Amino acid sequence: MKVLKFGGSSVGSAERVDQVINILIERYINKKQRIAVVFSAFQGVTDKLIEVGKLAFKRRVDYKTELEKLIDLHYDAAFKLNPVNKHGQIADLLEPLFDELKEVTHGVYLVKELSPRTLDYIVSFGEVLSCSIISLTMQNRGIDCEFLNAGRVIKTDDNFGNASVDFKLTNASIVKYFGKHKKLQIVTGFVATTIHGEIATLGRGGSDFTASILGAALNAELIEIWTDVDGILTADPRKVKNAFSLPSVTYEEAMELSHFGAKVIYPPTMLPALQKKIKIVIKNTFNPDFAGTYILEKEKSAKLIVKGISSIDEISLIRVQGGGMVGVTGIAARLLGALAKHNINIILITQASSEHSICLAIPPKLGEISKKAIEDEFKLEMFEGKIGEVKVEENLSIIAVVGENMRHTPGISGKVFQSLGKGKINIIAIAQGSSELNISLVINKNDLAKALNTLHKAVMTKQNHSSS
Ligand code: ADP
Ligand code: ASP
Ligand code: MG
Repeated sequence: MKVLKFGGSSVGSAERVDQVINILIERYINKKQRIAVVFSAFQGVTDKLIEVGKLAFKRRVDYKTELEKLIDLHYDAAFKLNPVNKHGQIADLLEPLFDELKEVTHGVYLVKELSPRTLDYIVSFGEVLSCSIISLTMQNRGIDCEFLNAGRVIKTDDNFGNASVDFKLTNASIVKYFGKHKKLQIVTGFVATTIHGEIATLGRGGSDFTASILGAALNAELIEIWTDVDGILTADPRKVKNAFSLPSVTYEEAMELSHFGAKVIYPPTMLPALQKKIKIVIKNTFNPDFAGTYILEKEKSAKLIVKGISSIDEISLIRVQGGGMVGVTGIAARLLGALAKHNINIILITQASSEHSICLAIPPKLGEISKKAIEDEFKLEMFEGKIGEVKVEENLSIIAVVGENMRHTPGISGKVFQSLGKGKINIIAIAQGSSELNISLVINKNDLAKALNTLHKAVMTKQNHSSS
């Protein structure tokens, strides 16, 4: 059994869906391979659904126009993919879904309330629609398949928008479901339900995770993530022209690269696969014969020291400093605790060895809330002058240089800093994980494009590829 996932970028139009169905027929169905296939919403649909929800919440009647455009887009794709004599059947399938979507958005408009729970309900339609259309289209082409709303099997807590999976319940229900349903399953990515049966989602980009959850529960031989690039590249190809595809990376490297902004795979995806040691391969829907990138436990063929450079385009930095922090235990714990109480995710933390200052990188626009949370926590210390004013810097970016072989190779950080120095790029904060897998740098957002290209040239060119 293989679990495949096609992202929004692979299903951006009727033509692309057609191409994907052909890939499935030629490579798997004709060869009688057992597969389950996860799909994302059609390209851009999740963003649009969020926009519709927000417009309705703001009592803007034009939410209806945007919703109508979304409805047309789906009818259009479904009609193009199917012969005219099946259009009635398509309307029968889609109309009730659109009625439900109209009702919920009208409810948002009326009561001016858009809770994370309601937003999850609204966005879940993206995957439900794409998978309903694709499974019906495949059935009409004689493929024996079934639609599966992953909410039936993936169970989570009620942290709507980014729900945590209850793996015990989920694994058991996946095994049970697939034990009973032997047909090819067309599965909604991203969507789950809470243990109380409410619709929840797994976080933006979460369809990758759906594939990995299914793959691990079913002990799949391989998890294939099909997207619009030739696998994991040494940098985001939209930002670094010379980025090239990597034959393989380790689970840890993939996690680091994606945690620091490589959107090609959603970071939690690696965990279920790693636990079961199931390989993941990233393949290009538009270049299906290309091998792509394997994500595996140990990389025997590792030739590169640095595997990639990724970036988070916008972050804020919080700096807490003061003589009263030196040698006092528990300061960092209280600091992190204060932010955790407000659900503020810390991307990076650095502490000078003098313990005089701690820097935290957090998502943008959370600077002021974080400052207030920290000031509340350390009211007394600030009053006594042990901790100074909490400073917030905005408009910064993080660059992460990632590679497991950096651990055994001296001089990489030297090369990194030297090249940025030569390019006159100011480094505001530095962190190196103790695993030495990752060097992270905070720089001004304006320097990002130049820094990425400069670094890529310095550490990713052929002369830096030594055999290890
Ligand atoms: P999908 O819709 O298939 O889930 P995504 O847009 O989520 O696709 O992810 C694929 C995109 O990730 C690519 O088009 C590319 O622009 C971007 N990306 C960012 N960093 C990298 C990287 N290091 N390697 C490959 N792609 C990357
Ligand atoms: N459709 C969801 C999103 O856009 C999930 C995914 O595509 O992976 O975030
Ligand atoms: Mg994605």
